[in-house]
Amino acid sequence: MSDEVNPFESLQEQIDDAAAYLEYPTDVLERLKHPERVLETNLSVELDDGSIEVFPAFRSQFNGDRGPYKGGIRYHPQVSRDEVKALSGWMVYKCAAVGIPYGGGKGGIRLDPRRYSAAELERITRSFAKELRPFIGVDKDIPAPDVNTGQREMNWIKDTYETLENTTEPGVITGKAPESGGSAGRVEATGRSVMLTTREAFDYLDRDIENATVAVQGYGNAGSVAAKLIDDLGAKIVAASDSSGAIYNPDGFDARAAKDHKRETGSLAGFEGATDQGSNEELLTMDVDLLVPAALENAIDGDIARNVEADIIVEAANGPLTPRADDVLTDRDVAVFPDILANAGGVTVSYFEWVQNRQRFYWSEERVNDELETIITNAFENLVATYERTDAPSFRTAMYVVAIERVVNAAEEGGIWP
Ligand code: GLU
Repeated sequence: MSDEVNPFESLQEQIDDAAAYLEYPTDVLERLKHPERVLETNLSVELDDGSIEVFPAFRSQFNGDRGPYKGGIRYHPQVSRDEVKALSGWMVYKCAAVGIPYGGGKGGIRLDPRRYSAAELERITRSFAKELRPFIGVDKDIPAPDVNTGQREMNWIKDTYETLENTTEPGVITGKAPESGGSAGRVEATGRSVMLTTREAFDYLDRDIENATVAVQGYGNAGSVAAKLIDDLGAKIVAASDSSGAIYNPDGFDARAAKDHKRETGSLAGFEGATDQGSNEELLTMDVDLLVPAALENAIDGDIARNVEADIIVEAANGPLTPRADDVLTDRDVAVFPDILANAGGVTVSYFEWVQNRQRFYWSEERVNDELETIITNAFENLVATYERTDAPSFRTAMYVVAIERVVNAAEEGGIWP
């Protein structure tokens, strides 16, 4: 990567870009650029062979002005203090952008989960839950899934917390399995908001989604569900990639079948509906109408951005563009619909899960999807109204204007104490 960047600096740059369209004094803005606190811990866990390994783990609580801290926990070899800080900040602005009553947090454990057995992962997860226990709570900080974590890990964390607290409190964590208090529609929620944002974006830009060509980078939970639902809108998914490489079919392939193939074999490689072809970078610069980056942050740097051929980008991943890439794409008039709107479906349905847990009253999947659609389409309307009113250079900057105003208004209600 030519412009290797620290994601925490990217976050701060995004806030500064939006600040130019807001009339706040610098001290007010400075508060929005740093986490309130970061827990850094080292988990000593016994492996199956009896040896002990130490795993660095983090939880950043960025800002709680609009409600309890909220955000996922990821398992990845790249997890670092600064990455978790950035991701927790993005959660603050994501929750504000769609108007759900949370602040932002994020956690992570530095490890490659593929290298550990299920029993080891359970001990690692429960060890982290034990460390997190004093910091989290249904009205304090509510974790959720993120990269390489899902229902299984959330259930372990909930069980550890409830056991240590001697209580039942399913709303302390979201993204659980339905049997443990999870919400209908949560697994598909991130991909669903990517689809809804895509649908609204094509409509706003007066583009036809029918037969539009799409490339999806990353085929995990967000990317594969987004691909499937965008396919259902009538678009043609022509390329997708995962860590094994990219697959391609100029006539479009069945995104559902590709998802099934990945579930069965562990990767996209060898999927019959397309040819195995090329690298991730080739996918990102393919001549398509829509590009959906759905993997990790910094996937598209300035150099790649100069070669991007898509006219529309909808961000399923958190922070997939470096600030340089963002500048290049803005200059080139590529319409980028930002992560803090497009992937906000995950945390929005987490909010629904938390509401249901607190009421001990559960909704149908249809109700979840309808309420999610209302929240995302309202946020989209707010975005374009602000984009047109402020004349901001990008949809990202306009979305941050909306979000920052909401956080500052809440902070001003509370004031600074002491
Ligand atoms: N990890 C997801 C995100 O980045 C979901 C967070 C949540 O549900 O709290 O938005």
